[in-house]
Amino acid sequence: MGPIETGESGIIFDIRRFTIHDGPGLRSTVFLKGCPLDCKWCHNPEGKKSSIDLWHFKNKCIACHICVGKCPQKALSVSADKANHINIDKSLCNKCGICVSECPANALAFDGRLVTVQEIIQEVKKDTAFYEESHGGVTLSGGEPFYQKNFSRKILESCKTEGINTIIETCLYTTRETIDEFVECVDEFIIDIKIFAREEHIVHTRADNEIIKANFKYLAKKVNSILVRIPLIPEFTATPENIQQIAQFVATTRSDIPIELINYNPLGRNKYVLRNKEFCLSDSVKPFTDDQINDFYAIIARAGAAIVKDDVIIRKTKKK
Ligand code: SF4
Ligand code: SF4
Repeated sequence: MGPIETGESGIIFDIRRFTIHDGPGLRSTVFLKGCPLDCKWCHNPEGKKSSIDLWHFKNKCIACHICVGKCPQKALSVSADKANHINIDKSLCNKCGICVSECPANALAFDGRLVTVQEIIQEVKKDTAFYEESHGGVTLSGGEPFYQKNFSRKILESCKTEGINTIIETCLYTTRETIDEFVECVDEFIIDIKIFAREEHIVHTRADNEIIKANFKYLAKKVNSILVRIPLIPEFTATPENIQQIAQFVATTRSDIPIELINYNPLGRNKYVLRNKEFCLSDSVKPFTDDQINDFYAIIARAGAAIVKDDVIIRKTKKK
C-alpha cells in the first residue's frame, strides 16, 4: 500500500504525552502509520503499514476460544497445531472490533486507529502549560509522517495556530513538493539517516537513499533548524565506516547541522516476539556502552560535523 491521502482524518498508532527524546522540552509525540522504508530493525513495526491490522498475541492468549465463537464474520479459527494460536482470515475480517472487546486476556488488538485532526489537537492541547514551561511542543513521528502528508500538515498547521512548537521526524523519502508544503508549519526537522552506502540501504530498508540524500541537500538550503539522527543498530548501521560516511555527508552539506546518535534499544525486539515475527538480531545483542558511543561521536567530530550529546550541541573544527 502506497502513501495515503487522508486530510481531516488519518491513521495513528499512538499519542505519547510527556516525551523527552523527540525534541526539546516536554512534548506530545503523535505516531502516524505508514512508511515507505522497511527497515529490518524498525522498533515501531506497527507503524510500517498504513492500514489498520488486527493482531493476535499468542503469549497473552489463554486459549479460551471465546473470540472464535463471537466473530460474526467467521474470520477466526484455532490453529491446528497450537491451541493458543488464533488464525485471522483478513479477507473475512471487517474490523468490527467485537473479538477485541470480548477477549478476556487482551490478546487481540488493532495496531492503529482513525482519528481527526481536531481530536489530536484536543489531546495535545491538554499539555500546553507544560510545553510553555519547558519550551516543548508537538512532534510528529511514525511510521513516516509524510506518508499521510495532508493529515500531517493539517495537524502541524493547527498546532501553529494554537502557538505550539512543531517538529517532524522523517526519513525524507518523499518529494520536494512535499518538503515545500511543510517548511512553513515545521519549527524543526529531525532527519533519520540510517545507512549511507546506496546498495546496503536498499538491501536493509528496501528503499533507494539517493532520494533521501538529494532531499537532505535541498532541505538544508531551505530551513535552518535541522537535526540528524543515526540509530545505532549493531551489524547494520553502527559501523565506523557508515557513521563516518554519514557524518562527512552532513558536514559537507552544512557543518552546523548536528548529529545525534540513538543507542540500540533491545526492547524493540519484544514487539516482534509478541507479533510472532522474527527479528533481525538475537536477544543476546546489547546496547552500546558509553565508551563505544563516544568512539562513534569521535568519528563524527573528526569528519567535521557538529554533535548533540545530552541535548547540548558541540561543534568541533575539522582537523587539517
Ligand atoms: S478470546 Fe482471547 S484469550 Fe481467548 S482464545 Fe481468543 S485471543 Fe485467546
Ligand atoms: S474484528 Fe470483527 S470481523 Fe474481525 S476477527 Fe474480530 S470479530 Fe471477526
